[in-house]
Amino acid sequence: MYLPTIEKGGSENVMELSGWTAKLEDLEVSLSKEFYKQYAGLPYDENVMVEHSARFQGLCREGLKQIGRDEIPELLFIHAVHGTEEVSQTRLKNQIYKKRNDDVAVTFNGQKVDLNSVRRFNREHIDDPQARKSVFDGLMGEARRLTSTLWRRFQVTREAYEKHALEPLGVYLVEEGISLKKLKEVVDQSARRAKPRFESESEELSPEVIGKEMEYFDDLYVYRHRIFEPFDSLFKDVDYVQEMRRITGRLGFDMDKVDIDSEPREGKYSSPVCFGIQIPRDVRILYQKTSPFGDYTSFAHELGHGLHFISVDEDRDFHERYLIPHGIAEIFSTLFEHLATSEEILTEELSIDEDTLEEILRRGRFMALYFLTFYGANSMLKIRFWEERLTMSEADQLYEELTQKYMGIRYPGTYWQTHHVVSMNDLYAPSYLLAEIRKSELLGSLRGRFGDDWWKKKQAGSFLREEFLSPGASIDLGSFSCLDPEPYLGGILP
Ligand SMILES: [Zn+2]
Repeated sequence: MYLPTIEKGGSENVMELSGWTAKLEDLEVSLSKEFYKQYAGLPYDENVMVEHSARFQGLCREGLKQIGRDEIPELLFIHAVHGTEEVSQTRLKNQIYKKRNDDVAVTFNGQKVDLNSVRRFNREHIDDPQARKSVFDGLMGEARRLTSTLWRRFQVTREAYEKHALEPLGVYLVEEGISLKKLKEVVDQSARRAKPRFESESEELSPEVIGKEMEYFDDLYVYRHRIFEPFDSLFKDVDYVQEMRRITGRLGFDMDKVDIDSEPREGKYSSPVCFGIQIPRDVRILYQKTSPFGDYTSFAHELGHGLHFISVDEDRDFHERYLIPHGIAEIFSTLFEHLATSEEILTEELSIDEDTLEEILRRGRFMALYFLTFYGANSMLKIRFWEERLTMSEADQLYEELTQKYMGIRYPGTYWQTHHVVSMNDLYAPSYLLAEIRKSELLGSLRGRFGDDWWKKKQAGSFLREEFLSPGASIDLGSFSCLDPEPYLGGILP
């Protein structure tokens, strides 16, 4: 989670690069602390956030004026250009947040359901598809109330970049180290290869999971909440924090360096989340118990982020420690998530029996297929949104076509405007796929070097830290990845 920064009296004489980044870091830390409190359900001050974003904006503008373009590392330059409109961004983000809670809402049997509560509603009404359909349809209509604010936010981003001869898609390609042609190819081919299997597995599994065939209102999150439920009883007594401490300890990681808050608290964010407040010294995870199997995997995911952040070399520059692109950061979260749910750990460490293991793996593969097709549509939408400079209604039209093409199910066009990742970020969606592909390539290289039981070996942990974790954003991706989707797809498709 990277939240922007600044400094008292943004107009003061800013300085050279190192002074600038020191001030940026101070603000980054203060702002993250405030957001942490918000997510932890602790008292926080919205004014402090607004004040910080104003300072951040001032500091970005001054730094870009006073420091030569060729002196500023690319990732930092991009971050600072985006930050030149931080106040508008923050204001618009808050408006979007409020609209998602208040305006985009329907009433069902006297109960208000909005975009923030719809997943809980779906969980409670999982066996009542008529109720879910009517709420879903209602919300898709109401989503138009968000359209102008989302559009404005995308425009603010575009205009800020254009002043510095950048554009959002180009920025993303630089951050992720990929060409447009390759990005589109990877997204398109992965989704297209997954589709037939997704359709046949869906036909087989859906009656077991949701009691009927899949329809447009049965989105990924409906399945995610239900599909692993049969295993909850097996995981309810697993102390997964202790398990992960033991497993990662063997690789030489010191989980005690990550602050873990498990206390249930009113207002605490319901999903586990990791904050790199001051990388690598102050890294915190928030979690609380909701459903046993889901908690186990999502804790392992956030722990992966945490172990990454504490392993970044503290002598690295600001941009190397803080501006780690999503397609890199998610490699290590998915690596640990994968490890926690791997055949080896489930059988050898958690004593799961053979039949249960098969069923967990089968359902896990189905969710991967769902991810590939659904995120194929989401990713392609955002790529083409920027590439072709689409309007919001053109984007809605395209989204209908893309869901039909990649998933075989036509979603209402406004669905993307309601999706937290797709609508609330400039791009982001393809990064999950890039990270999954790179994670599988990395796993192949770890197995090749240390054997299939690499996860039991201290040297494998040292190698992981020295080669891949400590450089932060300066990781040499080329040393293990050519973005070949085969190793990843091969694990999912027969
Ligand atoms: Zn993550």
